[in-house]
Amino acid sequence: MPTSFKALAELCEKLEGMSRRVPAVNLVADFLKSLEPGEVEPAVSMILGRPFPKWSQQTLDVSWATLSEIIRRITGVDWKVFLEAFSQTGDVGSAAKVVFESCKVKRQAILFEKPLTILEVRRSFEAIAETAGHGAREKKERLIEALLSLASPLEAKYLVKIFIGEMRTGFHEGLMEQAVSRAFQIPLETVKKAGMVLGDIGTVAALIKAEGREALSKISFQVFRPVKLMLAQMANDVAEAIKEHDGKTAFEHKLDGARVQIHKCGEDVRIFSRRLTDVTRSLPEIADTVRREVKAREAIMEGEVIAIDNEGHPIPFQHLMRRFKRVHEIEDMAETIPVGLYLFDILYLDGESLITLPYHQRRQILAENAGGIPLTKQIITDSVDEAEEFLREAIDCGHEGLMAKRLNSEYTPGIRGKNWLKIKPILEPLDLVIVAAEYGYGRRCEWLSDYYLAARDAETGEFLVVGKTFKGLTNSEIIEMTKRLKELAIKEEYRKVYVTPKIVVEVAYNEIQKSPKYKCGMALRFARITRIRDDKTPEEADTIQRVREIYQKQFLKKGNIRVWNSI
Ligand code: AMP
Repeated sequence: MPTSFKALAELCEKLEGMSRRVPAVNLVADFLKSLEPGEVEPAVSMILGRPFPKWSQQTLDVSWATLSEIIRRITGVDWKVFLEAFSQTGDVGSAAKVVFESCKVKRQAILFEKPLTILEVRRSFEAIAETAGHGAREKKERLIEALLSLASPLEAKYLVKIFIGEMRTGFHEGLMEQAVSRAFQIPLETVKKAGMVLGDIGTVAALIKAEGREALSKISFQVFRPVKLMLAQMANDVAEAIKEHDGKTAFEHKLDGARVQIHKCGEDVRIFSRRLTDVTRSLPEIADTVRREVKAREAIMEGEVIAIDNEGHPIPFQHLMRRFKRVHEIEDMAETIPVGLYLFDILYLDGESLITLPYHQRRQILAENAGGIPLTKQIITDSVDEAEEFLREAIDCGHEGLMAKRLNSEYTPGIRGKNWLKIKPILEPLDLVIVAAEYGYGRRCEWLSDYYLAARDAETGEFLVVGKTFKGLTNSEIIEMTKRLKELAIKEEYRKVYVTPKIVVEVAYNEIQKSPKYKCGMALRFARITRIRDDKTPEEADTIQRVREIYQKQFLKKGNIRVWNSI
């Protein structure tokens, strides 16, 4: 018997009201056991708030504006009902349920006629995702309307949550792994490992249900299904990295670009971004290079794509992001923002998973298969001096710092562990002046906890905002700061208080970016307050000229480009 979507919605409703994990895991495990094999993956995805499995590139792409318009149309309910329910619950799905309930009588006939099944919902999602070309928008709206018209208020609540990607039941992926482990009596570690390889817990559950636990011993990567990325933790310096990796490690240049996972099968090459979306169309020349250089029939490799100037020097990250956003006029962009690929890992080669091999061996295999594509520059050393020299070299070449990789480590998809460490030199902090502040949210709603940071223009004396942060101060410092700022207040505008520039703070940051956000044309990236500098007067604070100097220094290292001359 096909399982109804109502059963899934009722399960989610129960999960939403449960605070204890074990009973929630048991409940989901029982539900999974009751499903038909073909229902398992769609159900797992939907319980986790996803219309499709994680590896899928399909998206629903429905905005709240469109969805709310359709709900209005179907229910004919005064929208005030929605707004009131939303202000009470703060949850779009729950508010949609209230709207659907308000028009219950009119729609009852439809509901009794045709209960939705999990598979029908999945098929509708697929049809919605597949709409393309002329008239796609209207077609998509019709499909959504058809689906929601068949939904009860409770079903509508969960459909809306899946549409907008906000499940909020608290039942996350980790708990789902436990539920799958419990439902099919398979050790949690085995389930997790299978999830890493298949890239989706629903797909793992479906495989076990259909083919039994033995199927797990045979699974391997599949080309064109992106694998979750292995991630790095931070180390303070190279000495710490060497110590952490038991006295000897592989240091590599850490390039300031975008991580890519490249899948190749014959002539077909696809490139996935850090978020595992397919960005092949944005990087046609990288796909061409891989097609030309990599001789293996099948491979999954990883590397970093960086933007480069005409002489091949790296230029800042934000330029590269423009390439990723730009799908139209690709050829133009390829000319103005050339990119380069540097490989650093290989996960799979001609039918064999390589992730359990030690890193130094994977790197060797990568070198043998990369053709003319460069690998990230690497040294293997136990010497702090040599590593420091290598770090200086990386910075001088315009790179971000170093990565340290434990020589005998496996590739662990989706794990941010100590086998990969990143080392970035910290830019010198700036002393800046607070010129305005905003009230915070939640517990901080009565405190001025979000600060506008400014540098003085030595020529005009004006204080120019270069960044904003709510990070760095302790609660008691924020309370004290609120008192001081209120005394300095000039005017209040909604939640923002403008103050006379008196208080100086020391601010750490990762980078200075060109930005239209502030009048000075620059913005600090990841600013955080490291100290309150009551020992400094605003006149002694850093000037906008100094900020510009640091900004330009970044570029001297990163290759010579036009943009900074205009600031
Ligand atoms: P972060 O984004 O600061 O967590 O640093 C990790 C990121 O550095 C990775 O996801 C890659 O995008 C990037 N990266 C740059 N060079 C390398 C390298 N040689 N090995 C691994 N990751 C690198």
